[in-house]
Amino acid sequence: MMQKAASLYDSGDDFGAAEAANMAKYAAGEAAIASLDQAIQTHGGGGLTQEYGLAAMLGAARIARVAPVSREMILNFVSQHSLGLPRSY
Ligand SMILES: Cc1cc2nc3c(=O)[nH]c(=O)nc-3n(C[C@H](O)[C@H](O)[C@H](O)COP(=O)(O)OP(=O)(O)OC[C@H]3O[C@@H](n4cnc5c(N)ncnc54)[C@H](O)[C@@H]3O)c2cc1C
Repeated sequence: MMQKAASLYDSGDDFGAAEAANMAKYAAGEAAIASLDQAIQTHGGGGLTQEYGLAAMLGAARIARVAPVSREMILNFVSQHSLGLPRSY
């Protein structure tokens, strides 16, 4: 999706690029926290110790759901502009 966004941007399709970039950002944010959570779970209590270094990544992985644009605002964008649904706010 990121490559699609880059390709659309290069071709001058600003709307298509924004749509794809939003989708890529949403998926990346979800994947980051889901994979880190699974890694912690795999190591059990050890996953939260300093030695594994996973707990230290929690803030960095979690912030991708909020900044620079929150996942809710991405879903708002996709629902309104891609799916043609009424603006929800
Ligand atoms: C570490 C960090 C670095 C940052 N760096 C920058 C930067 O360099 N430049 C910059 O411009 N900004 C930066 N920001 C700000 C960032 O863009 C905002 O935090 C982000 O856009 C979310 O806005 P907010 O924090 O005001 O949350 P709010 O807008 O108050 O949102 C709070 C919650 O309500 C939800 N929400 C809000 N409106 C709606 C809606 N209409 N529909 C559904 N849900 C909604 C949000 O999804 C979120 O879950 C940074 C933030 C952080 C945490």
